[in-house]
Amino acid sequence: KASRMEPVPDHGETSYQGSGKLKGRKALITGGDSGIGRAAAIAYAREGADVAIAYLPAEQADADEVIRLIEAEGRKALALPGDVTDESWCRELVAKTVDTLGGLDILVINAGRQQNRKDISQVTTEDFDKTLKTNLYALHWIAQAAVPHLPAGAAVITTASIQAYEPSAILLDYATTKAGIVAYTKALAKQLLKKGIRANVVAPGPFWTPLQSSGGQPPEKVTEFGTESAYGRPGQPVEIAPVYVLLASQEASFISGEVYGVTGGAGVA
Ligand code: NAD
Repeated sequence: KASRMEPVPDHGETSYQGSGKLKGRKALITGGDSGIGRAAAIAYAREGADVAIAYLPAEQADADEVIRLIEAEGRKALALPGDVTDESWCRELVAKTVDTLGGLDILVINAGRQQNRKDISQVTTEDFDKTLKTNLYALHWIAQAAVPHLPAGAAVITTASIQAYEPSAILLDYATTKAGIVAYTKALAKQLLKKGIRANVVAPGPFWTPLQSSGGQPPEKVTEFGTESAYGRPGQPVEIAPVYVLLASQEASFISGEVYGVTGGAGVA
């Protein structure tokens, strides 16, 4: 473990270089306006995919800029602002993607909610319900709506967390949903295998994204949290994008039902 905080290198989102690995594919990414989902969206466009991004409109993210970057690659882009805690919206966003992009063969269910609560007494039913709906029910609603549209060769990717395996005291409800995402995706992978569709989980460690500060952590806490990685810093979203590309690509033809940790050496499970 690094003894002091190294400066985060400049791995800007525009540094990702594609090589046509996803040419002609059609992707939907929830949480595609910000952080990890945004990096995946830009990488997918650079690899030749058309990309729809679903997101909760927020000040700290800039969906228009992501759309601009996708279109700059000569790809189709679709912005889907809305709330995934609404079941009917989850079904609608899949239908809109299929209509606008002319199909769907890469589904990334990545949107997430994280609230820090020091004590069990502070995790209200309302809190737990919102986290369950955002992180877990939405996964089911979107996957259920999408599966009938997915052709053989399609890929489903979910974003869990290292929290699924090593839960922090302050993330009781969040960690529970992340463990649920792992189980759900593995079970779905078994269902989809006979259709030639793969499903895998990405389990990030600490990444420098708006999620951390909006989870109630001041920036210095995020820095501290980043030192849990063996690199002594949190990752930049662009540093996890290659895993989302690999799992979406035909090169991953023998990879399904797996969990990919990207933790900066902190490990998963
Ligand atoms: P982020 O804040 O940049 O992105 C979160 C995304 O989720 C945003 O695009 C937001 O619009 C979307 N979202 C949240 N609630 C929504 C709702 N109700 N309806 C629609 N969209 C909603 O954070 P991030 O770090 O990029 O998070 C992406 C995923 O990665 C999350 O599932 C998160 O739990 C997971 N993750 C992040 C880290 C990390 O350290 N950043 C670590 C492990 C797992």
